[in-house]
Amino acid sequence: MTHAHRAPIHCILPPYILEVIEMRGDEKLRRMAKRMQKDADAVRQARAAAAPETAFRGTPAFVGPTPAMPHREVYDGQYKRTLPGKLVRAEGDPPVRSKLVNKVYDLTGKVFEFYIKEFKRNSIDGQGMTIISTVHYGRGYRNAFWTGEQMVFGDGDNQLFKTFVDLSIIGHELTHGVVQFSGGLIYQDQAGAINESLADVFGVMVVQYAKKQTVSEASWLVGEEIFTPEVNGHALRSLRAPGMAFDDDILGKDPQPYHMDFYVNTYTDYGGVHINSGIPNHAFYLLAQYLGGYSWTKAGQIWYQAMQTLQNPRATFADWADTTVETAWRLFGAGSFEVAMTRRAWKLVGIHI
Ligand SMILES: [Zn+2]
Repeated sequence: MTHAHRAPIHCILPPYILEVIEMRGDEKLRRMAKRMQKDADAVRQARAAAAPETAFRGTPAFVGPTPAMPHREVYDGQYKRTLPGKLVRAEGDPPVRSKLVNKVYDLTGKVFEFYIKEFKRNSIDGQGMTIISTVHYGRGYRNAFWTGEQMVFGDGDNQLFKTFVDLSIIGHELTHGVVQFSGGLIYQDQAGAINESLADVFGVMVVQYAKKQTVSEASWLVGEEIFTPEVNGHALRSLRAPGMAFDDDILGKDPQPYHMDFYVNTYTDYGGVHINSGIPNHAFYLLAQYLGGYSWTKAGQIWYQAMQTLQNPRATFADWADTTVETAWRLFGAGSFEVAMTRRAWKLVGIHI
């Protein structure tokens, strides 16, 4: 069943959220949700026609003599649905009038800094790839996504979503690119849920890095800034408490499980990639708590190096868990506390390795 999804776009909002808005929202929200589904299909088709699957390549660690600098380009979509739009701020340009453009420029720079300083990775592809973002995509567009080549941000509808320009979301979307250039994971079933989970894990880590928060200080939320006060919820997803991020009249209840006992078998959302990602998300959260301090110094290193060595686009949760344990072994030694805690974290979410 993967053949139909060769070139998915990676949206931050899963289709079931759009579906419940169509079902429960007022007339205006319903119309918007319908249009959004159509737009997502159109982008997907355009991408399928334009771009072949990204070839898997190795990702050399950055070894240059001077610190690598980002290459950023921020475009204004001018409320149309064509990409990338009009270039408004390129690398090294002074701030422009639009606060939103400057914010995207700064936050993408923060994600670049996180990857180069903490993981020695020079941009998305490891080779200094230009980080391209488009803001003001469409009118009232209620999503953000990674196309395989760039990030795209809608403005939100101002009823449920006030913005999609949020550091955890930018970290999430760029990490879809990192996954793509690290061997890839198909966007279906468990492999797709690992893909989604990696995007969430690195999305929350970059927020913790920017705020210099320890694992106990951090919120562990994805999309903490996107809801309007109308929504009864903290964020889109929670790694600390999957399933508890929101519980709202229109959006419904956060459907994420935190344990294999509650794994959701579904055909929607590519086999529940935004739902079952709660399980590996929570395993990472538990490991980070066991190891303490800053998430990216140990737990994050294990996850990052495991992502580089996995090289299995159809990996299951068990394959992924195995790779993280092997990686912890390689980084910290066979009898180390880190290996024992990695095993324990997976066991607590129902994956025994
Ligand atoms: Zn995603």
